[in-house]
Amino acid sequence: MSSTTTGQVIRCKGKPPHVYQILQTQIKPSDSISFKRSLDPINTRLLLKTISSSSSSQAIIKTNSSRFKIFCSSDQVTTNKSMSTNAGQVIRCKAAVAWEAGKPLVIEEVEVAPPQKMEVRIKILFTSLCHTDVYFWEAKGQNPVFPRILGHEAGGIVESVGEGVTDLQPGDHVLPVFTGECKECAHCKSEESNMCDLLRINTDRGVMLHDQKSRFSINGKPIFHFVGTSTFSEYTVVHVGCLAKINPLAPLDKVCILSCGISTGLGATLNVAKPKKASSVAVFGLGAVGLAAAEGARIAGASRIIGVDLNANRFELAKKFGVTEFVNPKDYKKPVQEVIAEMTNGGVDRSVECTGHIDAMISAFECVHDGWGVAVLVGVPHKDAVFKTGPINLLNERTLKGTFFGNYKPRSDIPSVVEKYMNKELELEKFITHEVPFSEINKAFDLMLKGEGLRCIIRMDA
Ligand code: NAD
Ligand code: ZN
Repeated sequence: MSSTTTGQVIRCKGKPPHVYQILQTQIKPSDSISFKRSLDPINTRLLLKTISSSSSSQAIIKTNSSRFKIFCSSDQVTTNKSMSTNAGQVIRCKAAVAWEAGKPLVIEEVEVAPPQKMEVRIKILFTSLCHTDVYFWEAKGQNPVFPRILGHEAGGIVESVGEGVTDLQPGDHVLPVFTGECKECAHCKSEESNMCDLLRINTDRGVMLHDQKSRFSINGKPIFHFVGTSTFSEYTVVHVGCLAKINPLAPLDKVCILSCGISTGLGATLNVAKPKKASSVAVFGLGAVGLAAAEGARIAGASRIIGVDLNANRFELAKKFGVTEFVNPKDYKKPVQEVIAEMTNGGVDRSVECTGHIDAMISAFECVHDGWGVAVLVGVPHKDAVFKTGPINLLNERTLKGTFFGNYKPRSDIPSVVEKYMNKELELEKFITHEVPFSEINKAFDLMLKGEGLRCIIRMDA
């Protein structure tokens, strides 16, 4: 019998009572389990302990229909406060290396150097695949940088910190983010921008800022980083400014998807498009990012949410995210912007583009109502793509905007997005359609290429 309590806090028998969080997805009777322990369920930093199969630290699970109990006395749990026995040392661990464009990733043993000035080394527990990884792996419309460790949507735990890092310590739970927040530059000080001068997304850089070197190597040969995160590795090194410290009780196998796609779509609507109550919103592309944008429209009180996608399989799924109407551009001879203008008496109030395709970007702009319509571009286009539209479309008082990461500042804002999930204002489970062990990471790529599912969680410990 398996349990669905993953990531939930459960109370454990034994004295003194402690609160434990299970890290595994499925628990069967007499399994050994991994869990985190907290002395105080609300505020205390959690200490991580992996329970091995050795008899002294084994937990016994008894299942009783859907309920189960865990018996373990506190003195059987030896906590490893710092998790940093490897601090300052090179760690050898598994990583999925992209050796060449479009070729399956290969699980290799890599060396991960210790974190340098303002850097943090983290243990990744869960990562997921976003379309941006696939674009840079295919490298069709992007600069090829190989060999590289991709991955940027993840949840992990701080293993050790480099010189100058004061906000994080070993054991902290973090979400790495592809764009950072130095907290000192004009952008970080501006309320409007999240385009940090120092740490904004740079897809061509494959090295760390501090010394322009990689922290990953195989037999001394460097392996490049990806957008400062490289989460397809059991351990990775990230600039402190690209790490959001989150509530340690938040289940990392769920909130890891807030590290990129879901926050991006949600923020694109809530922070950038800002639809008014009872307004109409078109969402182009009903992948995880687009559905998160639809979720934002629903939360904002939009009355019509028009989903646009070439893949009709997305439509059924999209109903769960508040999408009220669907348009498949393939079903019409005329441009989709004309179809939407006819459906909405001149155009939608807001549109959010989440496809990465230039035609969809242009349609998303041209389908907003003149006078007040606002279109927001989110998709990452081919590097040579050019946005062409008649200037009259702008003169007629339509607004075109774009955003990275939904305008969220990763360190300042993401902890509160995690709290939205913890308070049940935001549902994440419906975005998670698949799960694979790290050894089968290429399956996650296959699913995304086939357009199946939304987010596939990759479990690092499996
Ligand atoms: P996804 O592949 O899961 O979803 C994309 C969807 O768009 C698919 O359902 C596809 O059928 C649809 N689509 C493709 N071309 C279309 C067209 N011309 N018209 C209508 N629908 C079309 O991808 P995802 O993970 O949801 O990511 C979406 C986009 O957002 C990608 O381009 C990704 O790189 C980008 N992204 C941007 C940011 C940012 O900060 N700006 C962050 C994350 C992802
Ligand atoms: Zn900055």
